[in-house]
Amino acid sequence: MNRTQNQGCRIGATAVKQRRVNKQSFVNLLGTLIVSLVATGPGFGPGAGAQDQVPAQPPTAEGAPAGPGNGAFTPARKTSFDQVTRQLDPGGDVFVYLATDRWLAGLATNVSQLRDVLEHLPNVPAAGREQIDLGFKMLIDAISRSGVEGISGVGLSGAQISQELHRSKLVVHYNPGQGEGLLWNLLGRQAHPLRPMAMLPKTTALALFGDLDAMGAWTFIERTVSDSGDAGLAAGLREWPRRFEQGAKLSWTNFLASFGGEAGIILTLDDSRKITLPLGPQALELPEPGLIVAVKINNDTLFERVSQEMKANPQTELKEEAGLKICVMPLPLPLPVPLQLTVASSGDYFFAATSPELVRAVLDARSGKTPGLGESAEFKALRQYLPAEGNQFFYAGKRFSEALLEIQKQAMQSNPLMAGQTDFFNRFLSVNDAGYGLVVGGHTPSGWQLVSVGNHDCSGALLMAPVAGGIAVPAALLLPALAKAKARAQNIACQNNLKMIGVACATWALDNGDQFPFNVSTNKGGSLEFCARGDGGFDQNSFRHFMVLSNNLGSRPQILVCPGDSSRKPAADFLSLEAANVTYQVRSGTDVNPKQTQEVLARCPIHGHELHCDGSVTQGHPQ
Ligand SMILES: [Zn+2]
Repeated sequence: MNRTQNQGCRIGATAVKQRRVNKQSFVNLLGTLIVSLVATGPGFGPGAGAQDQVPAQPPTAEGAPAGPGNGAFTPARKTSFDQVTRQLDPGGDVFVYLATDRWLAGLATNVSQLRDVLEHLPNVPAAGREQIDLGFKMLIDAISRSGVEGISGVGLSGAQISQELHRSKLVVHYNPGQGEGLLWNLLGRQAHPLRPMAMLPKTTALALFGDLDAMGAWTFIERTVSDSGDAGLAAGLREWPRRFEQGAKLSWTNFLASFGGEAGIILTLDDSRKITLPLGPQALELPEPGLIVAVKINNDTLFERVSQEMKANPQTELKEEAGLKICVMPLPLPLPVPLQLTVASSGDYFFAATSPELVRAVLDARSGKTPGLGESAEFKALRQYLPAEGNQFFYAGKRFSEALLEIQKQAMQSNPLMAGQTDFFNRFLSVNDAGYGLVVGGHTPSGWQLVSVGNHDCSGALLMAPVAGGIAVPAALLLPALAKAKARAQNIACQNNLKMIGVACATWALDNGDQFPFNVSTNKGGSLEFCARGDGGFDQNSFRHFMVLSNNLGSRPQILVCPGDSSRKPAADFLSLEAANVTYQVRSGTDVNPKQTQEVLARCPIHGHELHCDGSVTQGHPQ
């Protein structure tokens, strides 16, 4: 858990590195959060003070204060505090421990209680009840099998380790014997040396590698579905491998069995080759990008299948070099980026890349023929503060954030709309401060540990980046546009309402001696006796005249409320119609009749639109 968040923090870190003051206030906020959690949650340990760790003493039944007046005590309940905090860095900006055992143990039971409540709601049809039952059964099975209930505590720390570098740790802990769930084993059963780090070419800007138990995930899904006892679902699931086999012309089980349990992706940026992207009036110059996907394999099933498909194109070249099968197909692109779709197999890895050179660069780095990223000072500086073993790693290089910042900068300069805001964005995104970092995640004997080292303090980023970068900026840009679009839609809907009122008046007049309701007596089905003309001839009893039009308005009282009028609510029906259910003002009087085509018949006081006696509508305030 929180894996993506932590990684996101490395990327999003560019958005953060604000003034110290800002960060401080966030740490304070976190402190407040902890205090409120202590007040509400049963199992939240003290965490804000890094130095004052609770000594590992056996809990005493009394929990008696150790000294007079200092309020010290031994916690009355044993949590995973010691096991978790032992793995964290004390003395930094952030130090948090949260005991989750009481919240998560019995999660499946809590969920099944929720099911009982839902099922006993009145008005749930039998079919719906079956659906609820099935959905919950699968959810409960999945929860109890996943290992979520075994999580006993979560810890987080952040500390500065040198002038430039910070280290953050996230620890998720389970109690002994609780580590069998898919949650713990999907992304790696046991930590091991991170060999793919040696595969990164020198030009690597971004890389993500990790273990993945595809067979385990598939078995988990199969078991959950078959245990649900639902024949339809089980049939649907059996249908999937058949469909895969038809589409991919590859056996599903062979495909799963050929996967070696690890995959990764590398983005490279080659400074020695520049590409020019047309972007607005200016051209954007960037180091040439390349992308390669590496999948650990047990055999060449995947390569054979994909290369066979590519060979249908006569331009495809298939070569065998020393220990490498490689298949290349040139792809013309409407962009100044050279692209040759390449798949290759080195026997233990399957590669898909944007050029054959990239595959060779990866293999040369691995064999030590050319120095890879692992030999660079930047990478070594990060690596020394990280665990030697793990199950996954994520790297974002300086070169990557520099390229991103450059795109941002040039995009803003070339967009005249943004010119005024450039300053604000530059400050907000801290354009001159490129972030970089390396994260290693791994299965420990008692849970999962994620450690990241980089030039940005993750504590602030962790809290702020997803919120500030992910939501606030797009929202700030979008909201005015949305508000405008909404206002325009309301304006048009209002004019339509007036047109419908015009049609209703005209059809009513056809049946009533060519007169509108306010000029026909109530004895004859009109509303003449309710007339109360006010300013400009607009009637104070407009709703009385609309009541008469009920049938002509299709019994839809909502037509009488302008969508921009928040002070009026549509009536449930015309019988209960009141002044509070009507926005539009009717002009009564004998001079208002179908023959006086240009006379105003009704208006919207919000928009100023006017309906004339001939049914035409003139716009009030333009939007
Ligand atoms: Zn209106």
